[in-house]
Amino acid sequence: MANGFASKKIAWRMLINTNKNTQNNNEFDIMPKINEQIMNHTIIIAVDGLSAAGKGTIAKKLADSLNFDYFSSGYVYRVIAFLAYQAQLDIHESNIKHTDFTYKKLMEIGCTLTIDILLEHISKPQHLETREISQYSSIIATIKELRDKLIMIQRHFAVGKTGLVMDGRDIGSVIFPDADYKFFIIASQEARAKRRYEQLKNSMYDSKNITYQSVLSDIQERDNRDQNRNIAPAVAAKGAIIIDNTYDSVTATVEKMLKRVKLQNTLENSWNCAIIVQ
Ligand code: C5P
Repeated sequence: MANGFASKKIAWRMLINTNKNTQNNNEFDIMPKINEQIMNHTIIIAVDGLSAAGKGTIAKKLADSLNFDYFSSGYVYRVIAFLAYQAQLDIHESNIKHTDFTYKKLMEIGCTLTIDILLEHISKPQHLETREISQYSSIIATIKELRDKLIMIQRHFAVGKTGLVMDGRDIGSVIFPDADYKFFIIASQEARAKRRYEQLKNSMYDSKNITYQSVLSDIQERDNRDQNRNIAPAVAAKGAIIIDNTYDSVTATVEKMLKRVKLQNTLENSWNCAIIVQ
């Protein structure tokens, strides 16, 4: 059986160098909730990085190029932040300690979160992408117990998939520490602020009161929180390839990543062949 799982990965490795459209996602259905099986069945590419580094666009393009599924783990935190905002919870770093009312309510929202709720919000996500929800999500993402509760729901997105590209902060370190490929995307704060500013200026929710300076200071604040928190900080996982896209376009960045994936495949294929020959 173990060889069957392994051969699926080998088959994929051969496929990505030939025709990516010939894969069948239903062919290798697996039972949910068994982490080991996910790792054996699904090719996982973790794309972690800093806020507004373009991870989402890059990871989605990478997934499309490989005919893999894609999920942005940031939405998990954003949906919880939005539900908390709807419930009029007062979200500040100072009131999310264990004994606080807000902490208890956030845990309640996190524990009752389902894939269906997530998908419903993600289907039209503009309300999740405002400045306010971005800040709230990075505050609630510092709660260890909440993060622990959210591990399985994120892993669930790999179940039954041939390949999955997931972006976030801790995908290569916590969610899928055995991911087949790990990337960590960085860019200067100024480059990220410029890109995010252009994006928000055209958003129907946030276009008013947006200035480049306000976006830059939001990014600095989130970087500080995400990189310095005690639990699952946004730092490159062991074995991750760091990609700086300050001066690169999305296409150029994806090309770089595809090259790395294909190079690693080639090396692993020759390794697999050597084992088979022995
Ligand atoms: O990636 P995105 O900007 O949508 O994530 C929103 C917030 O959720 C981040 O600022 C970060 O604090 C948190 N997050 C996280 N771990 C992840 C994904 C997102 O802590 N894997």
